[in-house]
Amino acid sequence: MKKRIAILGSTGSIGTQTLEVIREHKEIFIVEVLTACKNANLLIQQSIEFQPNAVVIEDESQYKKVADALSKSDIKVYAGKKAIEQIVEMETIDLIMMAIVGFAALPPTIRAIEFGKNIAIANKETFVVAGEFMVEKSKKYKAKVIPVDSEHSAIFQCLAGEFENPIDKIILTASGGPFIGKNKEYLQNVTVAQALNHPNWSMGKKISIDSATLMNKGFEMIEAKWLFGVQPHQVEVVIHPQSIIHSLVQFEDGSIKAQLGLPDMKVPIQYAMTYPFRIKNSFPKFDFAQYPSLNFEKADTNIFRTLAIANEAMIKGGNMPCVINAANEIAVEAFLNERISFLQISEIIEAAMAKIEFIKSPSLQDYFLTDELTRQKVLEQIK
Ligand code: NAD
Ligand code: MG
Repeated sequence: MKKRIAILGSTGSIGTQTLEVIREHKEIFIVEVLTACKNANLLIQQSIEFQPNAVVIEDESQYKKVADALSKSDIKVYAGKKAIEQIVEMETIDLIMMAIVGFAALPPTIRAIEFGKNIAIANKETFVVAGEFMVEKSKKYKAKVIPVDSEHSAIFQCLAGEFENPIDKIILTASGGPFIGKNKEYLQNVTVAQALNHPNWSMGKKISIDSATLMNKGFEMIEAKWLFGVQPHQVEVVIHPQSIIHSLVQFEDGSIKAQLGLPDMKVPIQYAMTYPFRIKNSFPKFDFAQYPSLNFEKADTNIFRTLAIANEAMIKGGNMPCVINAANEIAVEAFLNERISFLQISEIIEAAMAKIEFIKSPSLQDYFLTDELTRQKVLEQIK
C-alpha cells in the first residue's frame, strides 16, 4: 500500500520540495490532497501531474478557475479557510505535510491532531504560538508529530536510539543569514532584496526575512522547547555559517551527537515522510573535501535583538510567544512592502510585548484573541 500524503501549502517552498520527494519515490507515495492560498495556476498544474483525490484553494474568488481547469478529472475541488480545516479529516490521508506559513496553520493543525493524524510539521509558528497546547493534545489524541524544520529533524535524528536518556542541552545551529557580522549602521539601510538573499537556503519570503533578523532561530528555540520537552536554559544557539551541521544534542555524560548534510530541505522532508526508515535518493551528497573548515561563533544579541526577544518570550511563556509571532508577521509583511525599515522589525515586536496583557495559562481562545489584538495594535503603530 502506498502512503497517501496531504500537502497543506503545496505551492510554497516546502510544498514544492515535498512534491519533488514524491516524484522521486512514486512507488512509495501517492498524493491524496493539495491545498494552496492564492496560486491557482500552480495548484492546477500540480493537480494535473499528481492527480490528488481533492484540492482546496483558500482564496474563494479563484474556486471557479480551479474547478473549471480540473472539471474533466475526478479531482474534488473545494475553497475557503474552513475547507482547509476540514480536509485534514479525510480517512484516506496517512500523513499530512503541514507546510502552510504562519499562524494560519493553527486551525488545520489542531484539527489534524484532534483526528489523531500523523503530521510532518514544517510550519513552526504553530508550535511557537501554542506549543504547550499542541503537545498536550497530540498526546491525548495519539497524533504523531514529526519535525521537518532541519534543526529539529537533526535533533529528532540524534535522539533516535537514545530511549529515555535525558537531554542535557540542545544546540541549534544558525547560518546567521545574509547579515551576519554586520553592524547596526549597516543594518539601518538594508533593502528587501538584500534581506531575501539567504546565503545557504532558498525558502519562502517570510522565513527568509525571519532568517535575516534571526527571529527564525528565536522561533526555533521555542519550537525545540516544546517538541523535545526541555527547559529554556537547555536550548542554545551557535552561529555556523556553512549550514552543514544541522543541530546537536548534548547528553548528560557530556557526549554530543550531531546530524550533518548539505543544506537541502528535501532530506528532512523525506525523513519525516519515511520515518523510521531511510531510503535512497538522488539528491546531492556532502563531500568533506568541499568543506575544509566548519566554523562556529556566538550570536550577537545586541545587533540581532530578535534572538534576545524570543528568548525572553520563551522564558516568560503564556501568550508571550503568540504576541511576538503576531507582531513579527505584521512587521515582516510591512518590511516586505517597504513600509518599515529592517531594524524597525525588532523594535515593533518589542513594543508589542509591552502593550499586550500577559496571560500565564492561555486557553485556545486566548491565543486567537492575543493574535488578533496584537495584529491590530501593530497595524495602528505602523500606520
Ligand atoms: P511559502 O511562503 O513558500 O509557502 C507557504 C504555503 O502556504 C503556500 O503554499 C501558500 O499558498 C500557503 N499559505 C499561505 N498563507 C496561507 C493561508 N492564510 N491559508 C492557507 N494557506 C496559506 O513558505 P515556506 O517557506 O514553504 O514555509 C512554510 C512553513 O515551513 C513556514 O512555517 C516556515 O517557517 C517553515 N519552514 C520552511 C523552510 C523552508 O526551507 N522553506 C524550512 C523550515 C521551516
Ligand atoms: Mg530551520
